[in-house]
Amino acid sequence: ATPTAVMVGTGVGASQGVLIKGGQALESAHKVDCIVFDKTGTLTIGKPVVVNTKLLKNMVLREFYELIAATEVNSEHPLAKAIVGYAKKFREDDENPAWPEARDFDSITGHGVKAIVRNKEIIVGNKSLILDHNITIPVDAEDMLAEAEGMAQTGILVSIDGEMAGVLAISDPLKPGAEEAISILKSMKIKSIMVTGDNWGTANSIGKEVGIETIVAEAKPEQKAEKVKELQASGYTVAMVGDGINDSPALVAADVGMAIGAGTDIAIEAADIVLMKSNLEDVITAIDLSRRTFFHIR
Ligand code: ADP
Ligand code: MG
Repeated sequence: ATPTAVMVGTGVGASQGVLIKGGQALESAHKVDCIVFDKTGTLTIGKPVVVNTKLLKNMVLREFYELIAATEVNSEHPLAKAIVGYAKKFREDDENPAWPEARDFDSITGHGVKAIVRNKEIIVGNKSLILDHNITIPVDAEDMLAEAEGMAQTGILVSIDGEMAGVLAISDPLKPGAEEAISILKSMKIKSIMVTGDNWGTANSIGKEVGIETIVAEAKPEQKAEKVKELQASGYTVAMVGDGINDSPALVAADVGMAIGAGTDIAIEAADIVLMKSNLEDVITAIDLSRRTFFHIR
């Protein structure tokens, strides 16, 4: 393609909300035959909500949620925001909505959070976080986890002073058009893969809904980047689509990094292409534009 064609291509992209950072990014996109998608905030809307609570201890919901919110209010995680937002419901009549004080807050990346609230040790997170603290998970908690995961929800466990106290089910639905975008990519002979820090059960359910068969779950940020490199080593030209801090090593490793515009600054910084409208159709727009520029179709 001539420099003029590349300029036209990036210009057309920009007018459609697809920001292409230079000619190299536009050129690489037409060779892509494999796309790695992050789950939360990329395939899903990324604004999770609490949809179910199971109490395992004899306590009132208001107190239960005060202890959790006091812990989670110190976390930036979308799940933390969902939990704190939901907890506010139980104190709507309150004049002073401040949460109880939390000491010794600790965030365990990819697992959850803990703190001391009202002299009780509060742990909120996934199964491995609870097991790492040698806390027994009763059968009814396991059942609720499995049920949540089967419905593509994320189950979050809560322990108070070393004993399981409750389970929350959190739902983060697919973006509109996600399923269609994956099916169009399939017809373009492009393989789609999902990587996520979320658990296998939820990841498999979301994969089924969106039509992605190849999944990597319970992945750490380095493992997302490793997966990209592994695919490249087996001959694929790989695009990575992501929105989060967790995704930036993979966005850099990919042949084409695509950031969701509504995502974190660090993801946008790390990417070659920014999807300003934050929708998945624009992954196709970007590849189409590159193919047209470099194959002179139409
Ligand atoms: P993703 O890649 O899907 O954005 P993360 O790697 O950030 O996921 O988190 C993985 C899992 O760790 C979450 O699905 C959740 O179970 C648990 N987790 C992480 N942060 C928190 C938190 N602040 N509160 C509760 N659970 C959390
Ligand atoms: Mg994400």
